Amino acid sequence: MFKDECVKCGYCCSKAPCQFGAWDDVRGGCRFLTENNECAKYEEIIKMPYADFSPAFGAGCCSPLFNERRRKKIESLRCQTNT
Ligand code: SF4
Ligand code: SF4
Repeated sequence: MFKDECVKCGYCCSKAPCQFGAWDDVRGGCRFLTENNECAKYEEIIKMPYADFSPAFGAGCCSPLFNERRRKKIESLRCQTNT
C-alpha cells in the first residue's frame, strides 16, 4: 500500500514546477500548488495530449527517495485508515 503511488504530499511541486507551473518567489514552490497539495491547473493540464508523460498525473511518485514529506503523509494516511 502506497509503495509507488502519488499520495499528494506536494514535495515535487514544491521543489521545481513542471512545464505548466511557475515558481512562487514569496512562498516557494509552484504557485499553482494548493494548500491541500492539489494542482490548481489539473483540469487544464489533463487536456494536453502529452500530459500522460509530463507531469504524468497518475503515473506514481516521481520523488520517493529521501522524501520526508511523503513519508509523513503516508504515515498520516495509514493512521486514518486504521481509525
Ligand atoms: S513527491 Fe511523489 S507523492 Fe509527493 S506529490 Fe510528488 S509525485 Fe506525489
Ligand atoms: S503539476 Fe501543477 S502544481 Fe505541480 S508543478 Fe505542475 S502546475 Fe504546478
